[in-house]
Amino acid sequence: MSARDRDLLEIRSAVAKLCASFPMEYWRETDRERRYPAEFVAELTRAGWLACLVPEEYGGAGLTLAAAAAVLEEIQKSGANGAACHAQMYTMGTVLRHCSEAQKRKYLPAIAKGELRLQAFGVTEPSAGTDTSSIRTSAVKKGGRYVVNGQKVWTSRAEHSDLMLLLARTTPREQVQKKTDGLSVFIVDMKAAVGRGLTIRPIRTMINHATTEVFFEDLEIPEENLVGEEGKGFRYVLDGMNAERILIGAECIGDARWFIAKATDYANERKVFGRPIGQNQGVQFPIARAYMATEAAALMVERAAALYDAGRPCGPESNMAKQLAAEASWQAGDMCLQTHGGFGFAEEYDVERKFRETRLYQIAPISTNLVLCYIAEHVLHLPRSY
Ligand SMILES: Cc1cc2nc3c(=O)[nH]c(=O)nc-3n(C[C@H](O)[C@H](O)[C@H](O)COP(=O)(O)OP(=O)(O)OC[C@H]3O[C@@H](n4cnc5c(N)ncnc54)[C@H](O)[C@@H]3O)c2cc1C
Repeated sequence: MSARDRDLLEIRSAVAKLCASFPMEYWRETDRERRYPAEFVAELTRAGWLACLVPEEYGGAGLTLAAAAAVLEEIQKSGANGAACHAQMYTMGTVLRHCSEAQKRKYLPAIAKGELRLQAFGVTEPSAGTDTSSIRTSAVKKGGRYVVNGQKVWTSRAEHSDLMLLLARTTPREQVQKKTDGLSVFIVDMKAAVGRGLTIRPIRTMINHATTEVFFEDLEIPEENLVGEEGKGFRYVLDGMNAERILIGAECIGDARWFIAKATDYANERKVFGRPIGQNQGVQFPIARAYMATEAAALMVERAAALYDAGRPCGPESNMAKQLAAEASWQAGDMCLQTHGGFGFAEEYDVERKFRETRLYQIAPISTNLVLCYIAEHVLHLPRSY
């Protein structure tokens, strides 16, 4: 076994141990009450996992994206839900590559110590989900500040974060040549902003996701909180989005592995007509199919993470990793529910909760159709369809 594989194995085993101290009843209860799993997030933070991508010179563990993917996969594989905190990892894709040295010195050591949380990523708007370039939230420079007006939706964890990475338009769409130009990224100090131009309203959803809508009304942001160059923000968030797709792909692999293990156990134990249901090919084949789909998708997640860590282009691989993994987890979730028969619907088996949770990744952070559009256009050079 290589040193890298040994390191990943150690990471997986440490994360699995931490997750084991949060029994399934904890996740059932937080889900039932739509309560943020603050205790779990605090433990992950204390153990340093949420800052694992922060370089050592800023106080983090300086791990690779492949290692961060192993952390998130392990969380999901334990039956937990890493969506409560995964943004602190994927926002690093933008922060580490595009924040200035001064910004990194200001924020990263505090994030590594767990004193600051960077858990919110504000991109989607009510009239601009898939079509990011048509966002309307504007940031207008006035003296040494930017004044922000507009609205975001589905800004998850906003109530449980100190900082937000915000995408806003700094040059009106009519005044730019390419519609993706004129967008800029900002670091918003949310604690300072709430009540002074920033309002957060929770949205209740079919899963426990702490998601919100966020309103900006003449919110002032100091100009030093602009990330990189004004107008180049779309490119910066794309770097974050590749990291996000790979990490969410890894979460889906974790979900799929949880579903497969749960279904296999149940198929071995549950006896109908005097024999285990898993003895029937009609029950075992869907498990075997889900297993194969998961293993294949896991290879693509691994490949995309390796390219990302090597600093190489990885748009197609990141998108394919997320899509294949999301499809594998959904296939495994459906199979697991079917294998459990009626009991799959009972809260105490956790299948229905994980089934709801994993469904999200067909839609967010990018819907399956748009990944297909991306592959068709950018990899296969078919005409752009939208
Ligand atoms: C629980 C949850 C948490 C989220 N968290 C965040 C977050 O933290 N930050 C953030 O910025 N966003 C977040 N999102 C938003 C998420 O990224 C968007 O929902 C997603 O990008 C899809 O955008 P939309 O909902 O506006 O769908 P739309 O863009 O309205 O699309 C609706 C449907 O039409 C399809 N469609 C649209 N155009 C085409 C086309 N040209 N070809 C084929 N099909 C098409 C889509 O595939 C989709 O199925 C979250 C969403 C949810 C539900």
